[in-house]
Amino acid sequence: MIFQKTKGIHIEGRKGMSKNNPLVEYFDPEFVYIHLLQGNCPLKPVVEVGDIVKVGQVVAVREGFGAMSIHASISGEVTAVKKVWHSSGKMVNALEIKNDFKNILDESIKPTKDIESLSRQDLIEMMKNAGLSGLGGAGFPTYIKYQTKETIDTVIINAVECEPYLTCDYHFILTYPEKLLKGLTYMMKAADAEKGVIVYKNYNVKIKKVLTELLKDYKNIELFEVKDVYPAGWEKYIIERVTGKTYQNLPSEIGVIENNSTTAIIYSDIVEHNIPLISRPITITGEGIKNPTNFYCPIGTKVSELVEKCGGYVEGLDTKKANYIAGGPMTGNAIFIDDLIINDTLGAVIIKPIIEGLHPECLGCGKCAEVCPAYLTPTEIRDAFKNKDVDLIKQLNANKCVQCGLCSYVCPSHIEITDYVVRAKGLLRKGAK
Ligand code: SF4
Ligand code: SF4
Repeated sequence: MIFQKTKGIHIEGRKGMSKNNPLVEYFDPEFVYIHLLQGNCPLKPVVEVGDIVKVGQVVAVREGFGAMSIHASISGEVTAVKKVWHSSGKMVNALEIKNDFKNILDESIKPTKDIESLSRQDLIEMMKNAGLSGLGGAGFPTYIKYQTKETIDTVIINAVECEPYLTCDYHFILTYPEKLLKGLTYMMKAADAEKGVIVYKNYNVKIKKVLTELLKDYKNIELFEVKDVYPAGWEKYIIERVTGKTYQNLPSEIGVIENNSTTAIIYSDIVEHNIPLISRPITITGEGIKNPTNFYCPIGTKVSELVEKCGGYVEGLDTKKANYIAGGPMTGNAIFIDDLIINDTLGAVIIKPIIEGLHPECLGCGKCAEVCPAYLTPTEIRDAFKNKDVDLIKQLNANKCVQCGLCSYVCPSHIEITDYVVRAKGLLRKGAK
């Protein structure tokens, strides 16, 4: 049990920048760009340049493992296929759709007539047809988890939002608490599970208050509080805390499925109104942003448009030198510009001035090893990686790294030591000499 022994560490949350501002709904981008990539899988477009599309219309499909449909998030004309930035840090092809601002819905979007009569299989099929993926950042097709042959007794909702700076899940829950509970109820039925648990961080007293009141009408759902430590939001950590059990590969081995709170909220709309995954919440924040804000907007919206809605950058920010992070500061990817497009897994963009006067050298302080929840020695793994010594990487248990980013976070020299460990894991998988 890697996390049973560790207490995690308290880190500066910096959530206050965006936490006290309300969630802003922005559904009027002039263009959206639907990436032809989901996770690592290329998507096949099923529309052509010149086609007119409706909100929720299937525009691309993922084939093979994790097969599912991807949908237009606005109505209008497909005007181009072009390369745009993706949160992975790569440029990928995307369908450009020009908004007609008519919000014409696809015929498939309509209220579900008899929700009570939906079977477990119907509910899983709805996840697949809606293109629902893990919106906490994993991006894994949700229905695959529910197709398990294992007996599931508990569905856990991760409402912890562990990473510093991020507050969009928090606001999404407070805006749509009933949808969260309904989404979880449908997930429990899709898993044939008797129990639902919503895990939140102890300082989010508003979440506790709102959900406690509503839960009077839900018999089999309970709340579970975790401390303000990092990485309290990690799947394995949460499941160990809630169940007291651990697992080797998948939570289903111990009768658990875990989903992020935003995924559950979106699933409620899928089940009740057949609205596929076409929008998501996102936090635009950081010391470089004038008014950090949480938005709820169509997938495919340009981040630069949202930055403008935040009042732009703080005065004096050198945008050529700023730090842009796609995702949270612990596990996100460094990007070079704000010309990024929102995809299913992108829950935040953080923009900060570069810190001057870094020590590029490793000081040998050992802080990275001290905080590692998997008891690894990141600097030794880095050296083994540099020497391409696969046997040593194996001995050093690099494969146990959970990619929490803590080692980089605490490093006084700001060395991206996590990257070395992740690349060492990659080398281990390839078995390179
Ligand atoms: S990212 Fe760093 S701190 Fe986290 S598990 Fe991996 S080596 Fe340990
Ligand atoms: S925390 Fe940074 S400086 Fe200290 S040993 Fe680890 S990599 Fe080196």
